[in-house]
Amino acid sequence: MSTIAAPDRSQIERMVRSILEQQLGKNGSAKPAPVAGHTPNLVVNISARHAHLTQADVDILFGHGYQLTAMKRLYQDTDFASNETIAVVGPRQRMIPGVRILGPCRAFSQVELSITDAISLGLDIPVKLSGDIEGTPGCLLIGPKGSLVLPKGVIKAERHVHMGPKDAEFYGVKAKDRMNLRVESPCPTTLEGLLVRTHPDWKLEVHIDTDEANCCDLTNATKVTLVKA
Ligand SMILES: [Zn+2]
Repeated sequence: MSTIAAPDRSQIERMVRSILEQQLGKNGSAKPAPVAGHTPNLVVNISARHAHLTQADVDILFGHGYQLTAMKRLYQDTDFASNETIAVVGPRQRMIPGVRILGPCRAFSQVELSITDAISLGLDIPVKLSGDIEGTPGCLLIGPKGSLVLPKGVIKAERHVHMGPKDAEFYGVKAKDRMNLRVESPCPTTLEGLLVRTHPDWKLEVHIDTDEANCCDLTNATKVTLVKA
């Protein structure tokens, strides 16, 4: 008897993207009219639970001088999902194993969880922009070569959209503005208040977490539309 391997996360992301692209292609009204020759290519990706680590913390968890190895480039291709994972432990030893590390290393360590994850760990986490970790709860991290107490840095990442200057001009938004994402699906939903984040090199990409993606059944979405809030 043959077994069929479940698709991994990157395969699922590609499937979602191609479904959305097909649907957008079938229905021209899903895309705003081009302005100045620029048509946004809206991609909605799901950020599953993950960690960012300093090299010093990688040294503790994986051994001195250990370098993260890239499993897959992310859509914003300066970043990658690494092959390495750690266990995140909350109060009373409740644990989520296999939390993927995103590289490259950063100046601070941070764990991004869904609120469902946080509840299962017994943590009360705030909604924060990535990097804004003052006053946030900590946790215990366990790697193959060691463990450490992260004093702070466990957050639910604020829903946001990455974009470059052309897309910002198209939508008439700037950094820190808010946008709404309409999702047509079996659970039609408008996710409100996505924070606009801009960088000259960024591709247009919405990041929502697994709770948000599940609540609007993103996998079965037929149309997604981004509008200024
Ligand atoms: Zn993001």
